Amino acid sequence: MHVSDLPVSAAVREHYRASGIEELYPPQAAAVDAGITDGENVVAAIPTASGKTLIAELAMLTADGPALYAVPLRALAREKYESFAALPGVSVGISTGDFDSPAEELGGEDIVVATAEKVDSAIRNGASWIEDLACVVVDEVHLLGQERRGPTLEVTLATLQRRAPGVQIVALSATVDNPADIASWLDAALVESTWRPVSLRTGVYDGKDVSFDDGSTLDVDVGDVGSNADRDTEATAELVADAIDSGGQCLAFVRSRSEAESLAVRLSEEDFGIDESAATDLAARIREVDGTSTGRRLAAAAESGVAFHHAGLVSEHRALVERGFRERELGVLCATPTLAAGVNVPARRVVVRDLERYTGEEMSNLPVLEVHQMCGRAGRPHLDPYGEAVLIGEPHTAEELWDRYVDAGPEAVESQLTAREALRTHVLSVVASGFADSTASVLDLLDATFFAHQSPDVDLSGVVDSVTEELGEMELLAVDGEATGDSGDPSATSLAATDLGETVSRQYIRPETGARLIAGIRTIRTMPEEHVTPLTALGVVCATPDMRGTYLGNRERADIYRYASRHAAEFTTAPDEADDFEAWLCAVKLARLVFEWGEGATIEDLVDRFRVGPGDVESHVERTVWLLGAGDALATTLGSDVGVFDRVRETLGESMSDEVERRPR
Ligand code: ADP
Repeated sequence: MHVSDLPVSAAVREHYRASGIEELYPPQAAAVDAGITDGENVVAAIPTASGKTLIAELAMLTADGPALYAVPLRALAREKYESFAALPGVSVGISTGDFDSPAEELGGEDIVVATAEKVDSAIRNGASWIEDLACVVVDEVHLLGQERRGPTLEVTLATLQRRAPGVQIVALSATVDNPADIASWLDAALVESTWRPVSLRTGVYDGKDVSFDDGSTLDVDVGDVGSNADRDTEATAELVADAIDSGGQCLAFVRSRSEAESLAVRLSEEDFGIDESAATDLAARIREVDGTSTGRRLAAAAESGVAFHHAGLVSEHRALVERGFRERELGVLCATPTLAAGVNVPARRVVVRDLERYTGEEMSNLPVLEVHQMCGRAGRPHLDPYGEAVLIGEPHTAEELWDRYVDAGPEAVESQLTAREALRTHVLSVVASGFADSTASVLDLLDATFFAHQSPDVDLSGVVDSVTEELGEMELLAVDGEATGDSGDPSATSLAATDLGETVSRQYIRPETGARLIAGIRTIRTMPEEHVTPLTALGVVCATPDMRGTYLGNRERADIYRYASRHAAEFTTAPDEADDFEAWLCAVKLARLVFEWGEGATIEDLVDRFRVGPGDVESHVERTVWLLGAGDALATTLGSDVGVFDRVRETLGESMSDEVERRPR
């Protein structure tokens, strides 16, 4: 199928031709055959780089009204926004933050790019533009199976289909075991393909050489090494050098942030023959962003054409590294697995050094889907003749790796909606947004989810009953009537959100976060005024489950405890009242970090003293500001005069705007 056959404007056709697109790739042609340009629902489960963006654009450009493109990550939103904004004659909006607004300003755009969380929160805040949507594209729909994001995604999709009846749904997925399940849930045609524009071979290193699935082998000589771990790293270094020697670039995946940094340091000892002036220029741009110890290490590695990429970097550093890699100013990127699920940075060779990860309790194997996504990054369309992925094993593990990751297919996507926390959030949200007013109508809504589609025989009424009871105890829901039990009548139980419940839902915080904030506000009311300080408000918000955790090193534990004791009168919870002492200490650490940030401490200082990444400071402050806003809204709902949340939020907001000046150069 040729671009000139597409039912889009001449200007758009010309735009495609100018970007090198003449013939449609086979999966794209299959999507058109499946009715993507005729308003049909389509699920496309196809590999990375097989042209999903064009499929999405064709659906959105031919839809009979505005379109929404939902992404899982903010970094992806920006990338897609730029790509859609380049389409001639199309207006594009983007929204990723501000969880407490309906984002009505997006109403006038042809295409809106938003994170799934933003869409969910806009729905909860009564966004009217949702009803006008003619087309919704969901990127990375296989994340339905992810514990944290999946439930939001499926409830949002089920709600969207109700709010905008007849809306065209296009879902883009990695290759998974059960795409037909997703397609039948969405009443969509399935386009499934393993076609790739650049061929990919995958191999396993067994301590001596790499055997590829096309039968070829590659000798990797690492000489004498001390340990297995050293051999893995040295084999990675050899494979990286070999890829760069043959004119390609390399992505090396490792298990943790510190491993990514130390591998980058090891690799920067090599001479990869990188263009020195480009590397020096990139290093200078990295230094310009900030001079924290992480920033300095990143710049030093970049001088040798090497970089690391993980969630502890500030977003500007991540963006510079991604762009630097795409523009070939870098030869190798040492990354944690999150990069594979994120932005588009393909390379000729992918080396997966670590196939296990520490889960908090033990080391466990990476999921097949995740490893396939990393491998799928191999081979740059238009640049590389082929792509290669190598999994690093040892003599005794190579066969197992081969069985698990090369021979076997990826896992099936399975709904995570029945996780209690997820159900609590979504039951409150559907009641507070006015979509349900009884246990029966909640069950009816849940019936449209992916969970119900996958497990039609599971009766959710028991768990919904206990969740509504919990929400009642949290004062977020008014439950009237009998609990239904297994045999009761669910329509007999009426549900209504309390004012507090509505605020919690609109502020887009979890019910447990709401309950903790409410308890904190009540305690603050009883405290002598002189004890209520910024640290009091920060202590409350940092102890909520919406504040992502941090770790405590052994050495800092005592120091944080002393700090907490010194400021005991300002905190709403005493150490002996905490359910979980370790979590309580972590909350104190976060509160102290954000407090000192608000007082003007430099990122460099905070990074060194609290042993966090510069990117962590950025995200902790951002989350705190959001939760302080929620705390203030709840204080208002409670009719209290607790103004400390708002005061601290204002100070932090001001600090954020002068953040750039405060970063050390
Ligand atoms: P995916 O989202 O599936 O990973 P993209 O949509 O980003 O992949 O496409 C990968 C690359 O292939 C892009 O550079 C894109 O411009 C190019 N591309 C897409 N479709 C075609 C086509 N039909 N012909 C030539 N190049 C294409």
